[in-house]
Amino acid sequence: MKYRFLFIIICSVLTSSCKFDRDGENGKFRITATTNIMADGVKALVGDSAVVTPVMAVGVDPHLYKASQRDLDLFFDADLVIYHGLHLEGKMVEVLDKFARTHPIIDVGELLPPTLLITSNEYANTVDPHIWFDVNLWTIAMKNLKDEIIRRKPEWKNYINTNWEKYQLKLNELDNYTNNKIHEITQQGQVLITAHDAFSYFGKAYDIEVKGLQGLSTLSEPGLNDVSKLVNFIIEKDIKAIFIEQSISPKAIKAVVEGCKRKGHAVKLAGPLYTDSLGEPNGPAGTYLGMVKTNVDTIVQNLKSE
Ligand SMILES: [Zn+2]
Repeated sequence: MKYRFLFIIICSVLTSSCKFDRDGENGKFRITATTNIMADGVKALVGDSAVVTPVMAVGVDPHLYKASQRDLDLFFDADLVIYHGLHLEGKMVEVLDKFARTHPIIDVGELLPPTLLITSNEYANTVDPHIWFDVNLWTIAMKNLKDEIIRRKPEWKNYINTNWEKYQLKLNELDNYTNNKIHEITQQGQVLITAHDAFSYFGKAYDIEVKGLQGLSTLSEPGLNDVSKLVNFIIEKDIKAIFIEQSISPKAIKAVVEGCKRKGHAVKLAGPLYTDSLGEPNGPAGTYLGMVKTNVDTIVQNLKSE
C-alpha cells in the first residue's frame, strides 16, 4: 500500500507539477473539496470560475470516511484541494498530509484563530470540528477561505469579492433567523439532544443547552450507562423530543426513546437533523443555507410547546 501511494505521488508530480497555474483542460479550474458542506461553501465563493467536486456523497459520515481510489484520483486531478481540517476527516488525515507535500491544498480549519474554537474537556485537547453550526463562525471561515483563494488566484479577486458580498448577506440573515427562532424554545427550558456531540458551537452561539449521546466523533460507541444517564436527564427536564441525524445510525438514540418509555415518559423521536452532511441536492437541505434553516425549523417545531 505504502509503495503504491508513493508511486501515485511520483506519477502525479511528473504529470501535474504545474497544475495550479493551468486553468483546466476544458477551460475550468478544478477544485476538489472533501465534505459536501465545504464544497457548497466553496461553490458560493468561486461561482463559475471553477468546477467544484465533493469527495463525500450525501449522507456520508466524515468522521469515519476512508479515501477510496476514486477519491485519490479526484485529489490528483484537481488544481486545488480544500478540506475542512480540525480532524473532521479523521480517517483521511494521513492521505491529506502526504498529498499536501506535493500539491496545492487549503486546510480551512487552520485559517481560523484558535481562540474561536471549542476544545473538548472530555477528550484531552481535542478541538471540536463542527464549526458550521455557528453561522457567524462559518462566515469567518468562508471570509478567510475567500482571502486565501484570492491570494492564490489574484485574477479572480473582483469576481470572488462580488460573490462574497452576496453570500455574506445571506449568511447574516441566516444567523439572525437562527437566533430569533431558537430563542422561542430556550424560553421554555428545552434542551437540544442529538445522536452525537455536533452542536456545541450551535449551543454556544444561540444560547441553548445541547447534549450528544455519542462524543465529538462518531468513532466512540455509546454504552448502556450513557443511555441510562440521558434517559434520567430527559425525564428530569421534561424534554419533548430528541433528534436522529441523517448521517448516523439511529439505533442508539432509539434506545434512549425506549428507555424513557419504560420509565413512563413519552419523548418524541424527531428529525432527521442534517449534521455532518447536506441533504439531497435539490431538497430543502441541499445547500449549507438550506441545511441550517431546515435544522432550525425541525428543532423548533419539535421542542416548542403550543
Ligand atoms: Zn460530527
